[in-house]
Amino acid sequence: MAEKYAVRNLRLCTKDCLCLYVCPTGASDTENSIIDKEKCIGCGACAEACPSGAISMVPKKMPPQQPKEKKVEDALRVLIRSKNRQETIAAALPGVLARAIVRSARLTAEDLCREGGYMLPQSDQAREFLLSVRNLPGIPEEAVSSLLEEFFGGRTE
Ligand code: SF4
Ligand code: SF4
Repeated sequence: MAEKYAVRNLRLCTKDCLCLYVCPTGASDTENSIIDKEKCIGCGACAEACPSGAISMVPKKMPPQQPKEKKVEDALRVLIRSKNRQETIAAALPGVLARAIVRSARLTAEDLCREGGYMLPQSDQAREFLLSVRNLPGIPEEAVSSLLEEFFGGRTE
């Protein structure tokens, strides 16, 4: 089995060019522009050929997360909570500036989550998080199950 697969960034892709011709399996030529992971053999030809740098090769198995000191985790949690509060306050205010603050606070909080390693796809933390929210009210159970299936083959322990 290939160790990597190709992922296309739709924002950078200018469509209908080289990757379609160099792909030996047709994986990059799809109706929805999302490279077919099942067909991709990870050869990397598309990523090399793409003039827009729109294709990345992604490892199928993510590396283990680096351990973090407790004081670093604590600081990240404080910052994430603070950004979350800012987002909540700004969301209740009218105007363009408030909307910009909402967006900025959300993006920063997401970055902090990634820095903390909490949202790394295929990590145990991501799996535990998905399992913990799967049956909560208001959470789309189908979407959570689909992510669990995609990243962990439906593994629940
Ligand atoms: S990595 Fe190879 S098989 Fe996969 S989409 Fe690119 S060219 Fe096709
Ligand atoms: S080669 Fe790059 S820009 Fe062209 S269709 Fe493929 S991904 Fe898009």
